[in-house]
Amino acid sequence: YSTAAAFDEQPIKPSVQVEHTQLLIDGKFVDAAAGKTFPTLDPRTGEVIAHVAEGHSEDVDRAVAAARKAFDLGPWPKLPAYERQRILLRAADLIEKHNDEIAALETWDNGKPYEQSAQIEIPMLARLFRYYAGWADKIHGLTVPADGQYHVQTLHEPIGVAGQIIPWNFPLLMFAWKVGPALACGNTVVLKTAEQTPLSALYVAKLFHEAGLPPGVLNIVSGFGPTAGAALASHMDVDKLAFTGSTDTGKVVLQLAAKSNLKPVTLELGGKSPFIVCEDADVDEAVELAHFALFFNQGQCCCAGSRTFVHECVYDEFVEKAKARALKRAVGDPFKSGTEQGPQIDSKQFEKILKYIRSGVENGATLETGGERLGSKGFYIQPTVFSNVQDGMLIAKEEIFGPVQSIFKFKDLGEVIQRANNTRYGLAAGVFTKNIDTANTLTRALRVGTVWVNCFDTFDAAIPFGGYKMSGQGREKGEYSLKNYLQVKAVVTPLKNPAW
Ligand code: NAD
Repeated sequence: YSTAAAFDEQPIKPSVQVEHTQLLIDGKFVDAAAGKTFPTLDPRTGEVIAHVAEGHSEDVDRAVAAARKAFDLGPWPKLPAYERQRILLRAADLIEKHNDEIAALETWDNGKPYEQSAQIEIPMLARLFRYYAGWADKIHGLTVPADGQYHVQTLHEPIGVAGQIIPWNFPLLMFAWKVGPALACGNTVVLKTAEQTPLSALYVAKLFHEAGLPPGVLNIVSGFGPTAGAALASHMDVDKLAFTGSTDTGKVVLQLAAKSNLKPVTLELGGKSPFIVCEDADVDEAVELAHFALFFNQGQCCCAGSRTFVHECVYDEFVEKAKARALKRAVGDPFKSGTEQGPQIDSKQFEKILKYIRSGVENGATLETGGERLGSKGFYIQPTVFSNVQDGMLIAKEEIFGPVQSIFKFKDLGEVIQRANNTRYGLAAGVFTKNIDTANTLTRALRVGTVWVNCFDTFDAAIPFGGYKMSGQGREKGEYSLKNYLQVKAVVTPLKNPAW
């Protein structure tokens, strides 16, 4: 990676202005009721990008009232599905048109490489909305053959007002995973962005209004978790809650939902995903994929392959090459072309990651490379590789959420299955092998919501995503996500003239 001095150079100026910093309620940008704001910071420097309206419970009340009205009085849930579809498609076109500005805003607020934002994430954002637009006019119930002389049908109806709370690691993709199915099914939404990354969702929500979305259908409240987030989770007029973030906060919002109106909750939480390299693996390919599985997005992925299990036959070669690959990783200003890794999101995550690295060293893992901050400002961390990691170590058990690869050695399949599953999480796993029997055994034995075989982080809009165990409840993306946003109504009508 670049020399430390490079990190103290003047950061590259983003080619976008911050246009929207207010809350978006009932189709209008408004200040917070109490007039409060909070700063959102540039992770490259820790300096303020903009001051953003800080929503509190009275703002959540206003947003929920707008969403309630837009749902109860319509027209949104009653619009012909084709009209809803057209609005989602128009919004996707506008996202595509403004791809580069949106990407710049996302990178500025989050620190992820601009090329990743502009070439992968914003195109994926448009793709996700087109995918959900495709569903809008294909949602329907069944006719059910019941005993007796009855005509029985099910109606699939929107649930109502959806409250949605998202994290900072993929601000816009998380926005799309939540807003896409909710709107396609005819719900209205109040979404709380993460306090670290409030900017891009405001920009994109404005595009939805340009695309013809009626006021009140999509409301955005920026603010903090214990205030705005908790108000949304415990609101009596919110009919459904969707949350992505840490497992600890997931437990809190589930309790808030239960203590208020028992709204159904979907949760996408943390992970400690195994990436298993079998003895038949091509080591160079395995190293590259395992590197991507962990370091992508600065290591800030819920599904990061953060436990790299390598068969003893190829272990030494793998460790040496993994170290060499980490040393080659291009860390630097995310706006610079070719940058693979930008800064971590904020000082809290930065300190937490460095603390985990220290614990790895103290617990006796071998620090192959990295382990230090880069530069003297912002939140850059060296790509870090540990070998000889043991299952009981803190770095083996807890989610680090940073650029820290932990490599474990295993001997046989039964052993690695047991160790891979020996975690409270169950989000994802990677399997690297050429042997079809090994692949089949592992894919069935691993207790996780996604198994990527000889690939990782493949996130097509149609592929369901979610966790086993304490990694979550429910599935997002794909057809499965629709059921989070639909009620099923059974309608039973006697048949008067059954003989005919
Ligand atoms: P977090 O769970 O604290 O925050 C996620 C969202 O929940 C944010 O919008 C936050 O404002 C909100 N929130 C926080 N407290 C709340 C409360 N009491 N009531 C309602 N909403 C609340 O996560 P974080 O602190 O931003 O990140 C910490 C850890 O979370 C990371 O280290 C990582 O392990 C995990 N994480 C997971 C994902 C994922 O995709 N599964 C994403 C980001 C972070």
